[in-house]
Amino acid sequence: MRIDNMLALVKDGARDVPGVYRMTSADGEVIYVGKSKVLRTRLLSYFRAQFPRDKGARILREAATLEWEVLPSEFSALLRELRLIKLLRPRYNVAMKRDARYHAFVRVSRGPAPRFQVVRGAGTDETGTYYGPFRGALQLEEALRELNDVLGLRDCRLDQPMHFADQPELLTLPSRTPGCIRHEIGKCLGPCVAAVREDEYLARFRVAKAFLEGADDAPLGPLRAQMEASSDALDFERAAVMRDKIRRLESLREQFARIRFALESLSFTYAVKGERPEDGRTYVVRRGRVRDECPTPRTAAERRALDQRVAALLAQQESRQATVPGHEVDEVLLVAAWFRKHPKELKRTTPIELPVDSELIA
Ligand code: SF4
Repeated sequence: MRIDNMLALVKDGARDVPGVYRMTSADGEVIYVGKSKVLRTRLLSYFRAQFPRDKGARILREAATLEWEVLPSEFSALLRELRLIKLLRPRYNVAMKRDARYHAFVRVSRGPAPRFQVVRGAGTDETGTYYGPFRGALQLEEALRELNDVLGLRDCRLDQPMHFADQPELLTLPSRTPGCIRHEIGKCLGPCVAAVREDEYLARFRVAKAFLEGADDAPLGPLRAQMEASSDALDFERAAVMRDKIRRLESLREQFARIRFALESLSFTYAVKGERPEDGRTYVVRRGRVRDECPTPRTAAERRALDQRVAALLAQQESRQATVPGHEVDEVLLVAAWFRKHPKELKRTTPIELPVDSELIA
């Protein structure tokens, strides 16, 4: 399809309604997916690109076909665009994770000596689990450093070799030197130099997770004791340092609690209007992710069917922690941003009751 043909197609058929569009090259590769709440206006803007180097002009030059899909609302278009981009990975959609990059997440690394890692956006580990989203990566890093120090957890490179004290091959290996000074100064248990057994390290890591999940105050104990001892010894400078450490950890724990609450409150059905009554769509959102969707019920039988779908969804147990699976981070950010920017849309939601006995997934 030549550019003139595409323009004629848009002029003839596109209307100013919400939707998504995709441009495909001559060899069938989808090169760009976009969305707009005014499709016709958006599509026509491509044909007015003034400079050959404009992104729109470049996409259009490579495109052989242009298709669009009308959707009931802007939210529907945003969601469809996100899912198409994840599925098709068009090369011109490089800005896809731009929103996500403004947010920080805490990722739990894999391997024998796990560590917390602050990442911007969802990173590339789609199978991992992320705590977040948080604002302010630097503050988050600082507070996690405090937690690592108090519990002796490592914070070194992910590829730092680990050697636990209970590894049988240690007898045949030359002695190791630590990869940094944290073990020597008492801030790391030293899993890199066989200074700790694997189960001991993992037990400390579990304490850290329990603290972040609001289930265990243990990391604060030694800091409080040191603060009181310093105060009794009239060493107020040291007592103030301890007080600041405690505050950073408490603030970190509060941030995790806020994320847990925010994710819980993003659990509802959300009915969007379409152009016509029969175009309305209802989304079932659980913990910030759209798990199901269907035409908005218009009869009692359709409402009962939706209730059954919601009940089936809720029957699936899942974590109630501040965690998001890696592959769903973008969608949580989309849903959260949508309701933050359009608070009036919350009036179109109906909360769904999450089961109180949802299991924690480690
Ligand atoms: S002492 Fe070893 S395990 Fe601990 S942070 Fe340093 S390099 Fe990593």
